[in-house]
Amino acid sequence: MQIFPCPFCGERNETEFHFAGELGKIRPDTTADVEADAWARYLYTQRNEKGHVREVWMHIPCAELFVLERDSVTMDVLGSHPLRKPPK
Ligand SMILES: [Zn+2]
Repeated sequence: MQIFPCPFCGERNETEFHFAGELGKIRPDTTADVEADAWARYLYTQRNEKGHVREVWMHIPCAELFVLERDSVTMDVLGSHPLRKPPK
């Protein structure tokens, strides 16, 4: 079991969280035709970087999205902040 810090509720059990994607992944523009390859890349391709990663997670009880920074090798949690307010 891991403890994740929700920036709105504080530290909680990892079972309360849902992974929402890698930070910076851009959804294809749906106002234009989107090729199947572009959708497939968006939906199924991950950078899956080793080391310090920044990801978007949702805390299910408060339904807020936020950025979780962690080390993908050691699984250490390095911090979190609201999605709309990056740290200074
Ligand atoms: Zn929360």
